[in-house]
Amino acid sequence: MASPMRGMRAGKIAGIEVRLDWSLIVIFWLILVNLSRGVFAYAHPGWSAGLRWGTAAVAAVLFLLSILAHELAHALVGRAQGVQIAGITLFMFGGVARTKGESRSPRAELLMTLVGPLTSIVLGFIALVLGMRAAPAGTPLSLDEPMRTFAGIGPLRTLLLWLGPVNIVLGIFNLVPAFPLDGGRLLRAALWAATGDLQRATRYAAGISQGFALLFILAGLSMIFGVRIPFFGQGFVSGLWIAFIGWFLYRAATASYLQVVVHDLLEQITVSRLMHHGPLVTVPPDLSVSSFVEERLMSVEQRAFPVTDGDRLLGMVTVADVRKLPRAEWSDKRIRDIMTDRQQLAVTAPDEDATSAFEKLAARDVEQLPVLDQGRFVGLFRRRDVLRWLDLQNRGLPSLRQRQA
Ligand SMILES: [Zn+2]
Repeated sequence: MASPMRGMRAGKIAGIEVRLDWSLIVIFWLILVNLSRGVFAYAHPGWSAGLRWGTAAVAAVLFLLSILAHELAHALVGRAQGVQIAGITLFMFGGVARTKGESRSPRAELLMTLVGPLTSIVLGFIALVLGMRAAPAGTPLSLDEPMRTFAGIGPLRTLLLWLGPVNIVLGIFNLVPAFPLDGGRLLRAALWAATGDLQRATRYAAGISQGFALLFILAGLSMIFGVRIPFFGQGFVSGLWIAFIGWFLYRAATASYLQVVVHDLLEQITVSRLMHHGPLVTVPPDLSVSSFVEERLMSVEQRAFPVTDGDRLLGMVTVADVRKLPRAEWSDKRIRDIMTDRQQLAVTAPDEDATSAFEKLAARDVEQLPVLDQGRFVGLFRRRDVLRWLDLQNRGLPSLRQRQA
């Protein structure tokens, strides 16, 4: 999916990079508070505050490790199937195993996807069995009333009996056929096998996903107004949460659909067709920052300026680079001191196809790429020109504009 998250790098497991998104703090905090002040406070009135918070913190960490196991399963099986794995990012709603390029076959996609929920469900059953094994005879296990299950048992078994159902629910929830959940991917793999066309399968799967996402929103709203929904239950907070997940799924399904449409449209043309040919102000490297601001920045609409020596590109300088420099230093510093060096820039060529150039823009999260023709600077490939062109090609894509903002 079009992943907005990069997150903090946490390390490597089996050669796969693991990143943690800041939104994890939200889910960590929710689990911590919900368990220590809610579930544990009711089920274990005898526990000290320290024991409650400590056990809840361990539960939250175990939950994150469970998601990590789920994503690692995707990544490892994917790699064994020949899919290039860029890394794993854990975030508020779970995780994503980011891939470079698509799977080669429906079979690879199916195996790679199925193993994730399977891992969660198996882990869940193992935790559940371990948690119940040491149970004194007659201890009730009630999934409907977790408070009764937890009453009178120690921290370790409490953890196991919490982690078990949570992982099983996680596995089942991921099988809901809504893109980008695993169920949506499985649906797409099936449609791909049936039609032999990945792009068309993605379009169909995205449409069905949007339908399921709307059902989530509808169910959530009904719960807010007191209706009891099987499996989800009822109540304001749960309803809000379900509706929120539905809204998130709807946006993700729309984004993955747009990605395919954009890919389809851009695949057929080259960079030279879309690059900015209009008058472009360039800057010499030895210009002082203060003259740059007065003579160039203030007089044109342009926000990014190629730094050139003849037709040779030396770097790029933007409004943001100037902002980073204290005003007092504007007259002393030269453009070459604040520019982004040519070596650090992603560039494109006139004959590169627009899809891969657009992917470079997205991957670097930049607004433009310098276009070099055999080392000669010839123009800029700008995000807004691409979006304007897409807008003209396809009037039915209102959300493209929102993505630009
Ligand atoms: Zn998964």
